[in-house]
Amino acid sequence: MKICRYTDPETQRTAFGVIEGETVFGLEGDLSAGNLSLERSEPSIRLSDARLLPPVAPSKIVCVGRNYREHAAELGNEMPPEPLLFLKAPSTLIGDGDVIELPAQSQRVEHEGELAVVIGRRCKRIAEDEDPLSYVLGYTCLNDVTARDLQRKDVQFTRGKSFDTFCPVGPYIVSGLDPTDLKVETRVNGQVRQSGRTNAMAFPVAHLIRYISHAMTLEPGDLIATGTPAGVGPLQDGDVCEVEVEGVGVLRNTVRASVR
Ligand code: ZN
Repeated sequence: MKICRYTDPETQRTAFGVIEGETVFGLEGDLSAGNLSLERSEPSIRLSDARLLPPVAPSKIVCVGRNYREHAAELGNEMPPEPLLFLKAPSTLIGDGDVIELPAQSQRVEHEGELAVVIGRRCKRIAEDEDPLSYVLGYTCLNDVTARDLQRKDVQFTRGKSFDTFCPVGPYIVSGLDPTDLKVETRVNGQVRQSGRTNAMAFPVAHLIRYISHAMTLEPGDLIATGTPAGVGPLQDGDVCEVEVEGVGVLRNTVRASVR
């Protein structure tokens, strides 16, 4: 099932929807409010007429650093003994086709293509005999855009990871996917920069969800960015950056230098 958030240009109504072929059927309710119904309802519109939005409006974006050994090594970091967590501000969020803006304060903004988990049900301290994946609505593509120079300079990650437009997500959420061995590829202007498989994660998806749930309550619509494979590199004005997750789709964004 492909779940999106969209605006109907005729009615200006924004809603969740399910994509079937070239048609978007509206869904009742709101994921973040915990009352999204997956029963399709009328009206439907053509996919080409719908303006797709970021598929979630999360209360938080929880990110995992250094979850792929080769990526940790390329930045000269040791592997952490437990998942290394940080947050991105929800105001970073943009959707498929939106523009990544390079802030004037940074000389080095990099792409990080990642598999993202979308939480479907509230969870807190998931028990040992519970399956963390049962709390997942689906998966999507995410670009954890990072001002690398500021991340290093500030020591902690808040500013370098949370400029506006630094979290492209989408184009939609795919449910019913097994996250354990998916290809994650990032291309810039058609050239492959990052290519990895989720089976190389130091801490797999189920482990991450349980671990995070023991630190903070995960709400419906919350995003977990599961870490990036090796090959991170700079983005320049005019670039087209694509993140593709096998079984999900392609998230495509253009890059623009901000005007001072
Ligand atoms: Zn990342």
